[in-house]
Order: sequence, then C-alpha cells, then structure tokens
Amino acid sequence: MKTAIVGGGAAGFFIAIQLKERCPQMEVTLFERSSHLLRKVKVSGGGRCNCTNTFADVTDLSAVYPRGHRLMKRLMKGFSQHDTYAWFERHDVPLIVQPDQCVFPAAQDSQAVIDCFLHLANSLGVRIRTGCPVSAITPVSAGGGFSSPTLTLSFPDAPAETFDFVAVTTGGQPRAENLRWLSDLGHEIESPVPSLFSFSVEDPALRALMGTVVDHDANHTAEAPHVTVFLPGTKFRASGAILITHWGLSGPAILRLSSYAARYLAEHNYCAPLAINWTGHNEEQVRQYLTDLFARHPQRQLSTFRPYNLPARLWAFLLDKSLPNSSRLTPLALSKKSINRLVSQLTSDSYTIASRAPFRDEFVTCGGIALTAINPSTLESRHCPHLFFAGEVLDIDGVTGGFNFQAAWTTAYTAAAAIAQRTRKDE
Ligand SMILES: Cc1cc2nc3c(=O)[nH]c(=O)nc-3n(C[C@H](O)[C@H](O)[C@H](O)COP(=O)(O)OP(=O)(O)OC[C@H]3O[C@@H](n4cnc5c(N)ncnc54)[C@H](O)[C@@H]3O)c2cc1C
Repeated sequence: MKTAIVGGGAAGFFIAIQLKERCPQMEVTLFERSSHLLRKVKVSGGGRCNCTNTFADVTDLSAVYPRGHRLMKRLMKGFSQHDTYAWFERHDVPLIVQPDQCVFPAAQDSQAVIDCFLHLANSLGVRIRTGCPVSAITPVSAGGGFSSPTLTLSFPDAPAETFDFVAVTTGGQPRAENLRWLSDLGHEIESPVPSLFSFSVEDPALRALMGTVVDHDANHTAEAPHVTVFLPGTKFRASGAILITHWGLSGPAILRLSSYAARYLAEHNYCAPLAINWTGHNEEQVRQYLTDLFARHPQRQLSTFRPYNLPARLWAFLLDKSLPNSSRLTPLALSKKSINRLVSQLTSDSYTIASRAPFRDEFVTCGGIALTAINPSTLESRHCPHLFFAGEVLDIDGVTGGFNFQAAWTTAYTAAAAIAQRTRKDE
C-alpha cells in the first residue's frame, strides 16, 4: 500500500510518522512544494514553538477555536492535549508549561520539534520529496472489480504518480484560487481570510504611547486592569493584555478579537469602530470605584491617581481625552458630568480600526476545506474516497496559545488512524 502526504508542515509530518508507526510496511511519501520542511514550526512561538496548551483555562472550546470547535471536541477524544504532551515527552522532546498554560519544548527552541520529526521520519523510512508541488489529484476508478480506488498525483515538473491513499496537509491558503485543485474535486470551500492580526489605528496621541503594555487580570480584582476589547454593535469581544504599538493596537486581546471577527472584519474591509473597556467593570461599578477613590484623596491632582493600576502614561492619556487640561485639577473640582465622562472613557474608550496592521503578521487562515466536505470521524473526503485532510487546510483555526498546533496534531492523528484502519480492511 502506498500513501502520499501533500505538504511538509506540522500536520504532514505528524501523519507520516503516525502512519509508519502503525503500518511499517506502508510506503509513505511526503511531497513538499518548497525546499524547506516544517518552515512554520521553525518560526512559531517566536522561534520556541508553542506546541500545545494545557486547556486548563478553557471552559468552552468555541472560545479558542472560533472555527471548528465542534469537530475539535469530537476528535480530541481520540488525541487530546494530554496525548500531545505524552507524545512529545515519549519522543525525547521534554516540554514545559508556562504560567499562561502555553506549552513549549523545555529547550525553548522550535528546532527540538523539527529535529524530532526529521529523525523519526528518517528512521521510520518516510520518503521525502522537496521542491515537488502537487498540482492535481485525479481519482482512478476501481475498474469494476473489488479493488480499491487509487489516486493519481500530478506535478508540474515530474511524471504523475499513483497512490492508494492521499492526505492533503497544505496548510492555510490566503487565496481561494490556491484551493481550486481541491474544489474541482467537489469539495466545498469556505473562502479564506486572514486571522490573528493586529489593528492599525490612526490616532497619533494613542500611538505616542507605543511600547505601553496593559496587563490583564483574569480575576477581575478592582486593583488591576481587566481589558476587554469589542466591536460596538456586534457580539465580538475579547479579553486579554494589550500592547500599544507605533501603528495602533496589538497583544493577546486584539489577536483574539481579530480571530473571532475575522470574517466580519474582512467583509468590512478592515474598517470598523473599536471600543475598549480598560477596567472589566460596568459603568455603575466604575462610577462607585472612582467616587470612593476620589473621596479618599480629595486634594490630590488627578494625574497622580492610577485607577485599576493602569499604566501612568495611559491614565494621563485617558484623562486628557475625556477631560482636556484637567491633570492638575483635584477631584473636588469635578462635576458629576465630568465623572460620567471619565467613567465612559474607562469603560467604552472609542477608536476606529483603519486597516490591518502594515506587517504580514497574520498567523493563521480562517476558512479552507469546508467541514461539510469531510467525514467528521475520519477526515476522509465525502467526494473522493481515500483522500484525507488534516491541519490548517481545513476550516479549523484557533486563537494564539498553542491551539493551532493542537488542531494540526489532532487532525493528523485522526487521518493517520483512519488510513491505517482502512489499510487493514483493504488488505
Ligand atoms: C509566524 C507564525 C507563528 C506561529 N506560531 C504558532 C504557535 O506558536 N503555536 C501554534 O499553535 N500555532 C502557531 N502558528 C500557526 C501554525 O504554524 C499553523 O497552524 C500550523 O503550522 C499548520 O500546520 P499545517 O501542517 O496544517 O500547515 P503548514 O505548517 O502551513 O504546512 C503546509 C505545508 O504544505 C506545503 N504545501 C502547500 N501547498 C502544497 C502543494 N500544492 N504541494 C506540496 N506542498 C504544498 C507548504 O509549503 C507547507 O510547507 C504560527 C504561524 C505563523 C505564521
């Protein structure tokens, strides 16, 4: 039996290794269009590869998989984050868990994962062909007998080859045209748009705060910021730390919001109102908090306060934005209307997203092969028997934190297990 894996990234290698471990006799060939294998693994997690997450802070998978959470819930029963952890440790890649629940190689270097995959693929006898883009897959009919169907792969610069099984792991594709060779086979495509990007905000006063990090207190204490960003008039909102940059806003809360609202923002050409609640509390709670704070220090200049422990520069900026030239005033000089303005500044601070940030920092693609096109238990195509999908080519994507690699491992495991089982049946 012969299996082709199309794409030499995280999902492709994981299928190849799993398959050879289960079916040593299987001839497995991995085709990679570029000259580089595992290129995204190399750069992932700032070069450290955030390879999964403990999911300890996850109560609802839809919060971390805006697309594909139902399928992930089903498939993680077969290969979960715990299985990922055990798999890497068993294959001599010790892992560590950060306080934010992200999991990295203890070596703090993505090369540890790459070395592990290349070593295993070589020792298990996976054939690797780089510089080999697959341009088409053609099903070959079973010829009327009981034999299984086969699939022929075409290449622009090499003779076509025929396989019993093919797994497509070509990753996120920025343009729908790149998926035409798969839609031509009947697969429905969810149009691809970027996810996980930061926002350009045309506000010189905000940008002047570049480098400011506003931490996020998940416990909602009154003495620390709990930042929520939202698109007013929509259901899209996300919480987390924020980084003010020289082009606008970034950081976990912004990346998460860009993921939740990926399709909405694409449809609005990346122009939309944005609001920030810097406190995590509602207007009434913030009004009470400020009233108590000011009552305790009625003679202090407003600029010297640090409500919710916001960075001093940010508080000065918000104060000036809501009550210009008020920094030297004391709370005694504040009218009820002024307090209300401060309250709304802290709970619904308004900006306009002007565009996606100028850098190509999107990490994943929202969209791809529609989940209706595959069998949810095996990831086999409903249109083309013996063709499987795994990884980001599917319409599954997660927020930052190791969730995208977990999707790659889980879907790759599922496809490999299904191919192995089919092989035994067909033999
Ligand atoms: C900068 C960056 C940092 C990231 N950091 C993290 C992180 O820390 N944690 C996390 O969970 N996720 C991270 N991600 C996301 C993660 O890298 C991807 O979700 C994951 O790599 C997807 O794996 P994949 O195998 O499906 O696709 P890819 O890794 O994209 O691999 C697909 C491969 O297929 C090849 N290919 C494409 N078309 C063809 C063809 N026609 N024929 C042959 N080969 C083809 C491509 O060249 C590529 O090598 C990051 C992404 C980026 C861009």
